[in-house]
Amino acid sequence: MPDLASYAVSDGNSRGRAHAEPRPKVRSEFQRDRDRIVHSTAFRRLEYKTQVFVNHEGDLFRTRLTHSIEVAQIARTVARALELNDDLVEAVALAHDLGHTPFGHAGQEALNQCMQGHGGFEHNLQSLRIVDRLEERYGAFDGLNLMFETREGILKHCSPARARELGEVGQRFLDDRRPSLEAQICNLADEIAYNNHDVDDGLRSGVLTLEQLQGVSLFARHAAEVSAEFPSIAGRRRVHETIRRMIDAQVTDLLAESARRIAAAAPAALEDVRSAPELIGFSAAMAEENRALKGFLREHLYRHFEVLRMTAKARRVIHDLFGAFVTDPRLLPPQYQAMADAGGIERATADYIAGMTDRYSMREHRRLFAVSEF
Ligand code: MG
Repeated sequence: MPDLASYAVSDGNSRGRAHAEPRPKVRSEFQRDRDRIVHSTAFRRLEYKTQVFVNHEGDLFRTRLTHSIEVAQIARTVARALELNDDLVEAVALAHDLGHTPFGHAGQEALNQCMQGHGGFEHNLQSLRIVDRLEERYGAFDGLNLMFETREGILKHCSPARARELGEVGQRFLDDRRPSLEAQICNLADEIAYNNHDVDDGLRSGVLTLEQLQGVSLFARHAAEVSAEFPSIAGRRRVHETIRRMIDAQVTDLLAESARRIAAAAPAALEDVRSAPELIGFSAAMAEENRALKGFLREHLYRHFEVLRMTAKARRVIHDLFGAFVTDPRLLPPQYQAMADAGGIERATADYIAGMTDRYSMREHRRLFAVSEF
């Protein structure tokens, strides 16, 4: 690993693991975390979970898995350039969406509605719940027993009430303190990845058009550059060359602005980062362009009628499944019945449904509701 800044997270200044373990023989502690995440069941399920387009709609659309890998790639580039811990950012990036339900945000909203009065459902919290409790891979403990800073990075948002229940990892939300710079990088890398790949997937699906995107300055600016430099290229190649430049512009801006803020705040140690304002961020101009791109995607992609039809159907699947299991817990697989006995039928059902891939949830829906299938 290249030299780390004095305020980077390291094996030496980490708050460590909840269950003490011997140090890894060859790897760093955060490489070990990354490897535990890659070997988890929840990680493999990401391949069959929707990002925006349902997994079976086309083989080329992003899934949660390819999205997570793109986030990890961007986050590592930024972390390394700023002399921060790129093993930690990789671990956080690969784990950040583990708690997502099938069918993307539609699935999460539906499950959250089902869980009103029973603690709600939030995918960030579920990602943490998976790595802290639900994965069953080790003899000595539940979950993956990850380092504190990996868990802190996974928990992006949190209500004050929930923060109090979570103890140390929730404390920063009560004290108005920041997470590590590595965690801050993962948040921005997530945004850079999904804003840009959603433009790509939106165009590929035909839901978005190039004409519409001329109204988005970040796209139009780079598309004009590409046309000037390569007047003869068209179609997919032109789109890809444009999006490549958009990502590069955002990463370059993020690096310059973050380096400027870090220099101004001059943190000496990790604790200084926690009490400083957010040090990882876009310049004001790029933040504005990024907001405009997000607004465009919200209006033209996430609220497009074809996408809304898909999300409406997804909501019905989740509501139907939840209703069936809560009404008759005997329909749950035995391991979840045992979890229901211990922690309540609603939470056990939410854990079961959240763990489903898109296609598994549809199969389960057919098994429970299709009269032609048993
Ligand atoms: Mg994400």
